[in-house]
Amino acid sequence: MRLYALILYTLTVSLCCGAGITAAIGISQEVYNYKQDTHNNLTHGQCPSQEAANELHVAIVGVGASGASAAYFLSKAQEQLEERGLPECGASKGFYSIHIGVYERSNRIGGRVCEVHPLDDESLAPISIGAAGIKQTDYFMLRAAHRFGLHMVKRSQKSRSRIGVWDGEQFLLDDLDESRWNQWRTYWRYGNGLKKASDLSFQRIYSPKFLHDPHEQNGYPWNGVHAIAQHLEVNNLVTQSTHDYFVKHDIPIAVTDELVGAALRANYAQDTNGAHAYAGIASVSLNNLVAIQGGNALLFEKMLAKSNATRHFGANGDVTGIMKMESTQNLSSSVRWKIATRDGHEGTYDMVMLATPWHASGVTLLNTEKTVPRVDFQRMTTTLVVTDAAQPDPTYFGLDASHNRVPLTILTTSKEGSTNQPEFITLSYLRDISHYKFQGTRHKRLHVVRLHSQDPIPDETLDRLFRAGHVFWKKEKSWHAYPKMSPTQSLDNFEIDTSLFHLNAMEKLVSSMETSAVAAKNVAALVLERWLGSRFVHGYDCKWSSRPHDPAIGWDKWGCMGS
Ligand SMILES: Cc1cc2nc3c(=O)[nH]c(=O)nc-3n(C[C@H](O)[C@H](O)[C@H](O)COP(=O)(O)OP(=O)(O)OC[C@H]3O[C@@H](n4cnc5c(N)ncnc54)[C@H](O)[C@@H]3O)c2cc1C
Repeated sequence: MRLYALILYTLTVSLCCGAGITAAIGISQEVYNYKQDTHNNLTHGQCPSQEAANELHVAIVGVGASGASAAYFLSKAQEQLEERGLPECGASKGFYSIHIGVYERSNRIGGRVCEVHPLDDESLAPISIGAAGIKQTDYFMLRAAHRFGLHMVKRSQKSRSRIGVWDGEQFLLDDLDESRWNQWRTYWRYGNGLKKASDLSFQRIYSPKFLHDPHEQNGYPWNGVHAIAQHLEVNNLVTQSTHDYFVKHDIPIAVTDELVGAALRANYAQDTNGAHAYAGIASVSLNNLVAIQGGNALLFEKMLAKSNATRHFGANGDVTGIMKMESTQNLSSSVRWKIATRDGHEGTYDMVMLATPWHASGVTLLNTEKTVPRVDFQRMTTTLVVTDAAQPDPTYFGLDASHNRVPLTILTTSKEGSTNQPEFITLSYLRDISHYKFQGTRHKRLHVVRLHSQDPIPDETLDRLFRAGHVFWKKEKSWHAYPKMSPTQSLDNFEIDTSLFHLNAMEKLVSSMETSAVAAKNVAALVLERWLGSRFVHGYDCKWSSRPHDPAIGWDKWGCMGS
């Protein structure tokens, strides 16, 4: 049954200087007059060095899943410094303190975690148009939700029944549900290739345990994503395409192209030749997805609220330039970073965390030769519609007009060489709205349907899908959705230049809310270890009563976890 459930669930998911440039991005010239002060010269020993400042100022650019998580983890460190100090290094309570400034160019928290109210009616529960699903192994997400008293809800039954795979010309599979008859139908088409593919994927599924096991000397915190991939023993998966990997493991082409391909398109909008095998495996390992009641963005709102960070939003939070300020005194050099925003605000920080895909941030990096490694992103459009059509129009799919079992969750594959490519990547009926009065008419039942597509879907296509006059409301959002998960030999370091970190380096390996939070914890650990030493991050003389069974033990703690 697990195998069959797997099918069902997987199928549903510069150096730049000079007045011209600095003026253009809003950084004032006086920054060049920066003089050494008490900050910096951060260490990497067990305890803070004598020169370590007792205050650390950290800027976080972007308040999506990674930025909000980073603010939260740093604030948990601040909480510990206030409550117990760092006695193992002779520092009393409150001797060290952290100041966090967050910058967000929009006016909301969450970034790609985004929900909207159908029909713009706030009395209707919000529906995700961005990151929707949380896995049972997303321990950070689940623990954080629990910490903030948020409830998890299962995906609607509707999205788990009547599943089909459409290749632009025909349904390769349709009307799937969990019945035995369907199990036989898929066995007939794919033989035991499906079981082999699922076993292969379950063996290699991302396990968050690697970050949390306090007994394990695992190299945490890791300098780069390559080290994380090495620790997870998945380097070889990142260097080859999903297609090559599955074929090499004797998975039938039909399973690879149709099922793995459909899951990969649903999850990363990419095909099995273009995406590395880890992305492919992550895509077929999605089961029992849940979401936060009221919307996943609530979690990141709570995390940011708990952090007490100084907030800069809108024009005041739209970072246009980040400039390195270096000073040398008594043979030791120190680095600080100046941040400028669109409305002319400036702030100076010891550390900066870039918590947004760099390429689309519009930030200019000044006074450094270092550059953020380029990551190309996949554009994608999410369209939410409200229709009274109880199912997509059968004639759109070349079916008889009387056909009354058109799939309500449609995944797609891209058929090589075909001129009839699917016009959407996924289509899912998500929820019904009963007895609703809209624009003067009372409707017995309306349906909320979400479509993902490469490009925006023209109204004319929606009319063919749901029949003209049957789409009452539409909301559309285009994204730089996910990195192009191309097979690669190079996964990047988090640290771009001294004390300048790019959390989204993680996304080349895997792009999800959970791994954004994992990257945030890891980078916070790098920062804290350098400032306060390894005893603060890992603890000192920890007494373990027993091996903890909770794989997320101490997920948001610093020091001796679970002891
Ligand atoms: C359609 C879709 C579906 C997805 N489904 C899932 C799913 O089901 N499960 C899952 O776990 N993940 C899913 N993901 C992936 C997940 O959303 C991302 O991996 C994660 O949210 C990335 O978070 P982030 O904080 O790193 O980046 P983002 O969410 O992109 O946040 C970056 C923030 O930085 C801000 N910003 C950018 N430039 C600047 C600037 N110059 N100054 C100030 N602020 C700036 C942006 O406004 C934004 O708020 C999905 C993504 C998409 C697009």
